[in-house]
Amino acid sequence: MSKTVCIMLAGGKGKRMGTKVSKQYLLLEDRPVLFYSLKAFEPYVDEIIVVAAEGEEEYCRENIINKYEVAKVTKVVTGGAERYLSVYEGLKAINESDDEMYVLIHDGARPFITGQVIKKTIEKVKETGACIVAVPSKDTVKIGNEFNIVESTPDRRKVWLVQTPQVFEYRSIYDAYKAAIESGREDITDDSMVMESFGNKEIHFVQGNYDNIKLTTPEDMIHGMAILRAKTDL
Ligand code: C5P
Repeated sequence: MSKTVCIMLAGGKGKRMGTKVSKQYLLLEDRPVLFYSLKAFEPYVDEIIVVAAEGEEEYCRENIINKYEVAKVTKVVTGGAERYLSVYEGLKAINESDDEMYVLIHDGARPFITGQVIKKTIEKVKETGACIVAVPSKDTVKIGNEFNIVESTPDRRKVWLVQTPQVFEYRSIYDAYKAAIESGREDITDDSMVMESFGNKEIHFVQGNYDNIKLTTPEDMIHGMAILRAKTDL
């Protein structure tokens, strides 16, 4: 038997969105962003742990989880000051069992993830122990220096734009995170980085969709409305 747990990150304050309400609670049509993210995962995982910002735990429970009856949420835990610290709080809240356990770490601000892609990651992680959703870069990517001058150009055929979920065998990602936090490293922007530097698994790409965007700035909300309409018109 194996068990799948989703860590749903909703601990950001959304400073770049510039709104009073955190970005994961903004409405898309008439539902909050986080509602769509939770409902996408619910059919495919055994359990969901939501990480909320300090002071927003009750709001999240009442206005999202209870209101929309997201039955698979077992815990709401308080996040940290940075995304990686919030992930670590989520990982620590998982009760380990004798079953093989897999954890799917997802940005609550990415509401357009599809069930098809979630299913593909679960199949892949069972085979390999670690995988991340990504899309091949359509644009050429440049590495620049601190003076905004081009330093180099990676081969575009090797460049992927990384999204979430990022999915791992539980014990490996927990141990890697523990080591990363203890090392004092602070430049961690995704979970794969933690596995790359402190873990023991090769990380496989699972090709996702270009519209699995993270809603970060006000323009993204306009783009998000268009994606949602296109999905519901199908
Ligand atoms: O800030 P960023 O856009 O990278 O956030 C990605 C996801 O991580 C969002 O869903 C956000 O709510 C979450 N996050 C978090 N705790 C933080 C910062 C971000 O859970 N301290």
